[in-house]
Amino acid sequence: MFDPKAIRKDFPILARTVHGKPLVYLDNAATSQKPRQVIQTLVECYEMYNSNVHRGVHTLSMEATERYETARQKAADFIKSPAPEGVIFVRNTTEAINLVASAWATDNVGRGDEIVVSEMEHHSNLVPWQKVAAQKGAHLKLLPATDDGVIDVTALDTVITPRTKLVSVVHVSNVTGAVNPVKEIGRRAHQVGALFMLDGAQSVPHMPVDVQDLDCDFLAFSGHKMMAPPGIGVLYARLSVLEKMEPFLRGGEMVREVWYDHATWNDLPNKFEAGTPNFTDAVALGAAIDYLNALGMDAVRQHEVELGAYALKAFAQLEEVDVLGPKDARQRAGLVTFTAGDIHPHDLGTFLDHEGIAIRTGHHCVMPYHRKLGLVATGRASFYVYNTNDEVDLLVQSLKNALAYFAHAS
Ligand code: PMP
Repeated sequence: MFDPKAIRKDFPILARTVHGKPLVYLDNAATSQKPRQVIQTLVECYEMYNSNVHRGVHTLSMEATERYETARQKAADFIKSPAPEGVIFVRNTTEAINLVASAWATDNVGRGDEIVVSEMEHHSNLVPWQKVAAQKGAHLKLLPATDDGVIDVTALDTVITPRTKLVSVVHVSNVTGAVNPVKEIGRRAHQVGALFMLDGAQSVPHMPVDVQDLDCDFLAFSGHKMMAPPGIGVLYARLSVLEKMEPFLRGGEMVREVWYDHATWNDLPNKFEAGTPNFTDAVALGAAIDYLNALGMDAVRQHEVELGAYALKAFAQLEEVDVLGPKDARQRAGLVTFTAGDIHPHDLGTFLDHEGIAIRTGHHCVMPYHRKLGLVATGRASFYVYNTNDEVDLLVQSLKNALAYFAHAS
């Protein structure tokens, strides 16, 4: 049985207090907390076999390499990549997208071509494409969002055209919480011969994601949002695409042979992992994946849908609170972005912090979409496996307290 109260015991940080109150951590879309199993994996790594991977013939190096490559296999299995070589370890989602914007777009986007993203992209899936468009004389086009904060599929045929070379969209929005209709978007991209990339930062940690079923060419995600340390992430890419791509960074480990005036490239995935990789955090990502698999990703998703539905219902009772995104909890991830009357989200965040409650306030790195909605900032409560209905109750009660407090203050 999925039991968040039992799960909480694996997360030492959840036992701490903030301003004398038990910590209620509702900022999981920014980063997740780490279970003891992941922390212990890191400790074991440094205490038992820390050594550079792929380089040594000595025992420690072989043990480290074996664990690093096992972590790659775990990541591949987690997203149903047909081969471990389709998993490139990077720092985070941002680096994964930049890798594609640099290594792939350089040779595949030209003057007059189109790159399509959506209106609700995180800056990480917008700013790199602005640079490609400016450098190549290409057009950066936007898929609009519906009033419910979902990518509007009725616009697919007009926005995605035979000049489109890449469609790159957010799978689950970190602002509206919408689970976007990505299969339809991918089908249209492939129909015109474009590649299809998914920003999976908010989907991979929270629901089953199958790259074969989604039929995406690239998928980017970050370990730190799924119980692993910061500094490790994944770019999944279809092997046939990766094979044709030039390297991203150049240096050690990504080469096969080097002369003074030229070099040849190593096999996949090493060709895209220049220099000493972050193997300790990759191994810890493997432990995080083990932890999530033991819970079962269907159960993780179910828990968050239920918690989201519970929160949406409770928020609906608060007259001054407006929630962004789809009304139906099954169309969204376990996150609720909202405004609370005239209270500035930063004031609200500070008020809640004094109650021990951590939420995110600001534009969540999605400034253009906030601007489009006429908002400067919003508050966001985002859930994970260890959050409970009791915590949602505490949040709602504190929101009521804040609304009363600021009504008096003004
Ligand atoms: N895309 C989305 C949808 C995100 O929510 C985030 C993190 N807020 C990112 C990309 C960037 O992730 P990272 O900072 O780990 O690169």
